Amino acid sequence: KLILAIETSCDETSVAVVENGEKLLSNVVASQVKSHQRFGGIVPEVASRHHVEQITLLLDEALSEADVRAEELSAVAVTYGPGLVGALLIGVCAAKAFAWANQIPLIPVNHMAGHIYAAKVEAKLAFPLLALLVSGGHTELVYMENDGKYEIVGETRDDAAGEAYDKVGRVMGIKYPSGKEIDELAHIGDDTFHFPRAMMNEDNFDFSFSGLKSAFINTVHNAEQREEILSKVDLSASFQAAVVDVLAEKTMRCLQKFPAKSLVVAGGVAANQGLRERLEQEVSQLQEEVKLIIPPIRLCGDNAGMIGVAAFIEAEKGNFANLDLNAIPSLSL
Ligand code: ATP
Ligand code: MG
Ligand code: FE
Repeated sequence: KLILAIETSCDETSVAVVENGEKLLSNVVASQVKSHQRFGGIVPEVASRHHVEQITLLLDEALSEADVRAEELSAVAVTYGPGLVGALLIGVCAAKAFAWANQIPLIPVNHMAGHIYAAKVEAKLAFPLLALLVSGGHTELVYMENDGKYEIVGETRDDAAGEAYDKVGRVMGIKYPSGKEIDELAHIGDDTFHFPRAMMNEDNFDFSFSGLKSAFINTVHNAEQREEILSKVDLSASFQAAVVDVLAEKTMRCLQKFPAKSLVVAGGVAANQGLRERLEQEVSQLQEEVKLIIPPIRLCGDNAGMIGVAAFIEAEKGNFANLDLNAIPSLSL
C-alpha cells in the first residue's frame, strides 16, 4: 500500500510517499524558517503564502523521488489539525483535490499522532505505550493501550517546552527557532543558576514552563541593569537542566502509574541531546523491560513522512474523510 502524505500545519511544507505505513520512499520538506526569522516567530499569513507556493512543486518532487506514479497510490493523507488554520487549509485543499482527481480515498491525520508515529520508523512499537510529546505547541504525556488509541494523562498548563526554548532564546539573541542552538550551548556550560523546577514533585503528570521562562528573563534583565554580562553557555545549561529534570522526572513517574512496554519521545524537542541522554539513562536503570524509542532527529520536527505512517493506522481503523473535510486548528488527540 502506497500513501501520499501532506503536512502544512505550521512552517514546514512537506510531502511524502510511504509504503505499508513504515517505509518512507520519499519525504520532502521545505522549511520557511528563514522567512519567519526576522519576525522572531511564525507569521501565520506568511506561512500560508509559502505553502501555496510550494505545495504543487513538492507533490511532484515527492512522487518522482519515490519513483511512484499517481495511479499507483492507494490513498492520500493529510494533517487537518492541530495547527494554524490558514496553513492547514492549504494542505487539506491540496489533498482533497488530489484525492478527487485520482479517485482515491482521503485519510485525515492528527498532527500529534504523526509525531508519535514517527517513532515507528525507528523501531517496532510495543503496546501499551507511553509517549512524551514535546514540541513547539504541545507538551503532553499520552498513554496508548493500542494502535490509534490515545489517552492524554498529563499536559502543560501554560507554555509548551519548545515554546519556552524559543522564548528564552530570543532573550539571549538567538535566532528562531532556538532549541537546537541552546541544546548545543548547554553541552558546554554548567547549571550555575539553578532555575525553578515547577510542579516537578507534585502528584500529577502536568507541566508548567512559564515560571521557568520568567525566572530566566528576570535573571537576564537584572544582570543587564547591573551592566553585567551573563554566560550564555551557563544560562543555556541551567535552563536545559531545569527542562530536562522536569520532563524526565514526570515521565518516569508516569511510567510507574501507567506501565508500558515502550516509551516514545516525540516532537521537535525530542531532538534534544540532553533529554535523549537523560531518558536513556533513566530507562536503563528500570527493573522492568521498557523499550525507549525516539525517532531519528530528521523525523522529530514536522514532516509528511510521519503523517503517512500514522495514516496507515487510520486506514486500518477505516477512518476516511469525505471531500467536505475541514481544518480543525485546535484538534486534540
Ligand atoms: P506542534 O507540533 O505542537 O504543533 P510545531 O509543529 O511548531 O508544534 P515542532 O516542529 O514539532 O513544533 O517542534 C519545533 C520546536 O522544537 C521548536 O520550538 C524548536 O525550538 C524545538 N527544538 C528543535 N530542536 C530542538 C533541540 N535540539 N532542543 C530543544 N528544542 C528543540
Ligand atoms: Mg516548524
Ligand atoms: Fe509539530
